[in-house]
Amino acid sequence: MSNDNNIKDDKNVKMLTLYSEDDTQHLAKQLAALPLTGSVWLAGDLGAGKTTLTRYWLQALGHKGAVKSPTYTLVEPYSISQDNGTTKPVYHADLYRLQDPEELSFIGFDEYLDEPNALVIIEWASRADSYLPQPTVFIDMTQSDSNDDKESRQVTIRLSKVGQAQGLDVSSLNI
Ligand code: ADP
Ligand code: MG
Repeated sequence: MSNDNNIKDDKNVKMLTLYSEDDTQHLAKQLAALPLTGSVWLAGDLGAGKTTLTRYWLQALGHKGAVKSPTYTLVEPYSISQDNGTTKPVYHADLYRLQDPEELSFIGFDEYLDEPNALVIIEWASRADSYLPQPTVFIDMTQSDSNDDKESRQVTIRLSKVGQAQGLDVSSLNI
């Protein structure tokens, strides 16, 4: 599955068309239901919908308040109460404005990544990809070029080797 020209739906890769923001919310709910830990790299151009997907994802995980874009802070931390009485640490990062990957060690990013049971959702991981550990999941979002199709997005969800080793399965994700 390393050949991107040969992507097909199986338990490691899922390609979906989201026709509306409601579809994005529906996908976010299903992502929130996966037993995900480690990091997720969210790739796509500005406006592709990475922050929007993350906002719905955090809400589906049980977060009640606002979700700020971490464009200036680099990371926004969340601590989400679960039904079983535990708390799920979730970090939402946006590395678009990262000047140097070293900044990540200044803000203690490694500790977030090492935290057991934490989920770290990273926009623009490409700014620091040689510094970051392999994510569990890669999600790529692409906006449709057509102007009469403003809400359409193509999404590819792909398990890394780490995600595959955890026995995750993305084949049932759907809208
Ligand atoms: P990014 O974080 O990738 O730069 P944002 O999530 O900040 O993108 O912006 C995406 C914009 O597109 C938002 O204004 C959102 O309301 C809009 N949008 C329209 N349709 C969708 C969709 N299907 N999924 C996500 N966002 C959408
Ligand atoms: Mg964003």
